[in-house]
Amino acid sequence: MNRPTLETDYLVVGAGATAMAFVDTLIDAAPDATMLMVDPHQQPGGHWNHAYPFVRLHQPSAWYGVASTPMDEAAPDPSGFQRGATGAEVLAYFGRLMRERFLPTGRVRWLPGHVVRPDDDGSPHLVCLATGAEQGVTVRRKQVNATHARTEVPSVRRPTYGVAPGVDVIAPGELPGLQRAYAHHTVVGSGKTGMDACLWLLEAGVPPARIRWIVPRDAWVQDRANILPGTAHFAQSTRRTIHQFEAITEASSLPDLLMRLEQRGVLMRLDPAVEPSAYRCAIASREEMAQLRRITDVVRLGRLRAIERTHLVLERGVISAHADTLYVDCSAGGLQPAPAVPVFDGDRINLLMVSWCRPMFSAALIAQVESTLNDDAQKNRLCVPVPVPERPADWLTLWAVTLANAQRWRQVPPVEAWLRASRLNTLAVLLNGARSEDPLHQDLLRASATKAQAAAPNLQRLLASLQPNATGEANAGQLARADQTLA
Ligand SMILES: Cc1cc2nc3c(=O)[nH]c(=O)nc-3n(C[C@H](O)[C@H](O)[C@H](O)COP(=O)(O)OP(=O)(O)OC[C@H]3O[C@@H](n4cnc5c(N)ncnc54)[C@H](O)[C@@H]3O)c2cc1C
Repeated sequence: MNRPTLETDYLVVGAGATAMAFVDTLIDAAPDATMLMVDPHQQPGGHWNHAYPFVRLHQPSAWYGVASTPMDEAAPDPSGFQRGATGAEVLAYFGRLMRERFLPTGRVRWLPGHVVRPDDDGSPHLVCLATGAEQGVTVRRKQVNATHARTEVPSVRRPTYGVAPGVDVIAPGELPGLQRAYAHHTVVGSGKTGMDACLWLLEAGVPPARIRWIVPRDAWVQDRANILPGTAHFAQSTRRTIHQFEAITEASSLPDLLMRLEQRGVLMRLDPAVEPSAYRCAIASREEMAQLRRITDVVRLGRLRAIERTHLVLERGVISAHADTLYVDCSAGGLQPAPAVPVFDGDRINLLMVSWCRPMFSAALIAQVESTLNDDAQKNRLCVPVPVPERPADWLTLWAVTLANAQRWRQVPPVEAWLRASRLNTLAVLLNGARSEDPLHQDLLRASATKAQAAAPNLQRLLASLQPNATGEANAGQLARADQTLA
């Protein structure tokens, strides 16, 4: 085919957060490499281009983003919930990085408004979305797939349930622009976006009695107070880490482990009477959970199938509905399952999570490993994918694979050195809060190391007890990988 052709060492498909973290680290780790980034959006940041105006990072900003550059928050969360940066700040951060760090190197080229598509033989070509013009691309080293997250956000996805004519259904981003009040509000979806929409309504002064919440699955949620950075929070975060290892050491089964984690303040749930069937890496504060518990009309009848004017059809029942109801669709799945592919796959790199709920840290670490080692088998030993969590059992497999990977990182000096200095490494950020002159801090650090060692044998036993036939819950592939990496 006769078309212009670009050349690059790395073709990075996508310019979302993980692509940005990968390229940022590669700029320093492979100083001779060129990179071409391609994305349909006009701004880097992927799904953040469609974020609702009141979204904030649910994690602290201290270790979100890329390794080279801290993310500044103009204004700390005024709600007091201690959430991270706003969506607008995240997007501005990625835009600034592209303009002020990536492009000035002369080694990064950025093609917004384009997609990468495969030719018949699988080799990539680029398509301009505005003109349809095509360009070939010669990739000298690797094609990097930064699209595996397949993040869905409500503003760019239609509800998958039926909606009768005349029923008002909006994305959460439309809440601040409402032109009239409704008698009732129904939030559809129990993930982080659903929680944010409920909190927005409550903060706006809507009485809890006028809010209904469709919760298809209850989830275990992590307490934000346990992962706040800085000296003031060091004792609490380290105590919770110790509690976590103690719970693993003492637990006799997965349900027993979850109960112990809850008792020790590591995990939280909305309703103590309801056993969660999900774990999705959500983080919230105790204050947010207390606010959410003010909503008592919580519908637990499975997924919504259809909204009629006077009733709702759900998987496990039909319930009546007020005719003047505003529905807020928060049913998009933010996290999609990871494909069963290795991270290093010949002339491809797949940006998958290789550490507990940390997509950006994982992408940056993969770039560091790519530029440190030569052999794919060795690289993959350091980058065993962690499951994208779905069920409570995944809390355990996530930890098992993360700990096993971390043990291997420490054996490769350049990776270990990068880890110690990286702002994306949660542990390093939390440890920065420790004071060498404070005996309490030093005691906690020693206790944490001892308890981690003590937990290892029972972690193995608990993993073995999760065999799919025994619980019907665990993902066999993930467990096999966890077992293998712990061996
Ligand atoms: C509301 C919300 C809040 C979140 N908060 C946090 C948080 O606090 N902490 C945290 O760690 N995670 C958080 N996450 C999750 C985290 O943001 C995502 O896991 C991460 O940002 C995903 O980034 P990504 O680059 O992998 O994917 P995406 O943002 O989905 O980016 C992928 C990009 O690839 C592009 N693309 C797809 N196909 C092609 C193609 N063929 N050619 C070129 N480009 C293509 C897409 O258009 C997109 O721009 C949050 C997610 C949501 C939705």
